[in-house]
Amino acid sequence: MKKTTFVPHVSMTEYTEDNPKIVLQCGHIFHLAFIYEWMERSKACPFCSKVLYIR
Ligand SMILES: [Zn+2]
Repeated sequence: MKKTTFVPHVSMTEYTEDNPKIVLQCGHIFHLAFIYEWMERSKACPFCSKVLYIR
């Protein structure tokens, strides 16, 4: 049996000039566009639920 190692998709995502990354206070990295959309609904990191803010 093959064991699958869980790899968070955030670490496998490519970041470009068109789609820049942002590092949250908790250290997780996301696409800036994704986080802006997410922040309209939530004030917490989508990954670890730590409350954060973006300057
Ligand atoms: Zn986090």
